[in-house]
Amino acid sequence: MAGRADRERAAMVERLRRRGISDERVLDAMRQVPRERFVPRDVAGAAYQDNPLPIGLGQTISAPLIVALSAAAMQAGPDAHVLEIGTGSGYGAAVLSRCHRSVVTIERHPELADRARRALEALGYDNVEVRTGDGALGAPERAPFDGIVVTAMAEDEPPPALLDQLAQDAALVCPVGHHGSGTLTRFRGGRAEDLGAVAFVPLVTGGAT
Ligand code: SAH
Repeated sequence: MAGRADRERAAMVERLRRRGISDERVLDAMRQVPRERFVPRDVAGAAYQDNPLPIGLGQTISAPLIVALSAAAMQAGPDAHVLEIGTGSGYGAAVLSRCHRSVVTIERHPELADRARRALEALGYDNVEVRTGDGALGAPERAPFDGIVVTAMAEDEPPPALLDQLAQDAALVCPVGHHGSGTLTRFRGGRAEDLGAVAFVPLVTGGAT
């Protein structure tokens, strides 16, 4: 018999389908990954609502639709080696780890990176490497990546180092804008495609806190 979380996950996936997500690998991953394990205990009861939720340090776990949209927009295959900037709770990385061969994810807050690493390990998602640092620099020694997703808002354009770490024909998906609101954008082969309006916490680069 399916438990409450299983039923909530199945209902979430049906809502994602109705809202236009059609990538079956992403939908399958989101049917599997226990989102409640990636949010603080006091908001775990709201884990399957269609909202972002606070995860501490002023950061949020993105709404399920945004996780699904970003993952699907990368258009990377099952054998792909992908990079995520902005680990946050680790939920997005967990979803990517069920869709692709390997994931490197980078978080600037050590506390969040540690918590995400523990949550991923406890679930046995062992094809994810969580790093602490400035994601704008990417992970050059693990490049090239078959897809990159940035889960914090860049101003005007994605960090150039990330574009340099893309494999040929691979896409980088990144929200671009100001003051938390902007456009989810896919960058591939020198072109930028608008995927819709989104709100995100800012990508913080350099020494700023
Ligand atoms: N993918 C996340 C969403 C996290 S919100 C999830 O599924 O929960 C965005 C995260 O990006 C925050 O945790 C924030 O601390 C982090 N972040 C912002 N700027 C960053 C940078 N330059 N490098 C790495 N992480 C960054």
